[in-house]
Amino acid sequence: MTDTVQALPALIDASRQEIAAATNLEDLEQIRVRLLGKKGSVTELLKSLGSMDPETRRTAGAKINEAKQTLTAALEERRAALEAERLAAQLAGDAVDVTLPGRGQTIGGLHPVTRVRRRIEQIFRNAGFEIADGPEIEDDWHNFTALNIPENHPARAMHDTFYFPDGRLLRTHTSPVQVRSMEQQKPPIRVVAPGRVYRSDSDMTHTPMFHQVEGLVVDEGITFANLKAVLHGFMRELFEKDVKMRLRPSYFPFTEPSAEVDISCVSCGGSGCRVCKQTGWVEVAGCGVVHPNVLKAVNIDPERYTGYAFGMGIDRLTMLRYNVNDIRLYFENDLRFLKQFA
Ligand SMILES: [Zn+2]
Repeated sequence: MTDTVQALPALIDASRQEIAAATNLEDLEQIRVRLLGKKGSVTELLKSLGSMDPETRRTAGAKINEAKQTLTAALEERRAALEAERLAAQLAGDAVDVTLPGRGQTIGGLHPVTRVRRRIEQIFRNAGFEIADGPEIEDDWHNFTALNIPENHPARAMHDTFYFPDGRLLRTHTSPVQVRSMEQQKPPIRVVAPGRVYRSDSDMTHTPMFHQVEGLVVDEGITFANLKAVLHGFMRELFEKDVKMRLRPSYFPFTEPSAEVDISCVSCGGSGCRVCKQTGWVEVAGCGVVHPNVLKAVNIDPERYTGYAFGMGIDRLTMLRYNVNDIRLYFENDLRFLKQFA
């Protein structure tokens, strides 16, 4: 049996070389099984000890066990090295190059209608107006009756109103905020009220929901001239151009006299184009001197106080400011469209 013991150093050497040459964990495992598995060569040597005489068994046993420990250590060392290599390769594969440019994270922008609404608010704030607000679900009194539009008044037919079963309605204009402002405060009153309004109407220039801004001034000695000056100043500020303005007589139940407001076309400067239908003018607002009946409805003395009011479509002003010809584009929320305003 000394043969066995003598052969051990050669076996160890050959095995160590094999272990060192293993390039992956699977190959290494096969080597381990061949040496130390149930039928491995070292295991077989240990089994053979039983047939030796006690003297030889002791020395051979020690040698074989030593060989087993040496090989186990070599296998363990190689396994750790291969695992480290595998991990390193994995990490290298997953590595993030922080110097690469980012994947286009873009920040959202305000909707163009919101931008124009804020701009309108700022211009009027600078002129000494306060921003007022009111509910979008209104009652008949604030939306119609208090504005000198009693039941069966033909003007009601002009408003394609959305009604609730209980008689309330979606406000058809921002004018009810006028009434609410006058109910809440005494003159002098200077407010603008931007907000959503609703009418059962939809085409290239109308949507069921749209935005208006209402203006109201009530004080002693307020005249139509004040109205004209404020509106003209506003239009020049909003469009950042020296636009011309003209007033055309019109009719609204809640103002008397009433007028439609035109400005010189911001697209062509007045020479005529598609936007102004070759007229050189675009309609942008309605306005007038507050009807005495409206003041009476909120217990303001029309003998002492006068006022003016105006209403404008914010969507319309936004279309003109950005030269967009279909109002529906503002409400489809197509990012390709909206991105252009960011
Ligand atoms: Zn034009």
